[in-house]
Amino acid sequence: MSKAGKESMYQKALKIIMDAGEEGILQSELWKLLGATSREGSRIALKLERRGLIVRQRELHGGRWTYRLFPKIRKVSVASIVGCPCFTCPDAFRCSPGGVVDPVKCYDLIRWVLETAPLEEEGEE
Ligand code: SF4
Repeated sequence: MSKAGKESMYQKALKIIMDAGEEGILQSELWKLLGATSREGSRIALKLERRGLIVRQRELHGGRWTYRLFPKIRKVSVASIVGCPCFTCPDAFRCSPGGVVDPVKCYDLIRWVLETAPLEEEGEE
């Protein structure tokens, strides 16, 4: 397989794993979806893990040890930044950490983060 072909295979694999989300996907399911052999599939999963893009977790499935693959990166939706005050802020051009206008001390930004951030359950770390 060419280098471009391999990269395309890695990208396809990463997309499948990202689409699987928090449930993850068994390595054997990934091979099937990619149309790859088990050896190629293992190599791809290992490479993606070494690149820091996924996590492989050992799992006993159907009496055999395999890996479940989870994405380490998440898709970001535009919805997650809707309402951020920085987009309409007149001070945005001079705002920087440690600058005259500092985002760390910005009440508008702090208020928006506190209003939109998911609350952690009490006792959760
Ligand atoms: S952090 Fe505050 S001051 Fe800086 S751009 Fe955002 S809203 Fe404006």
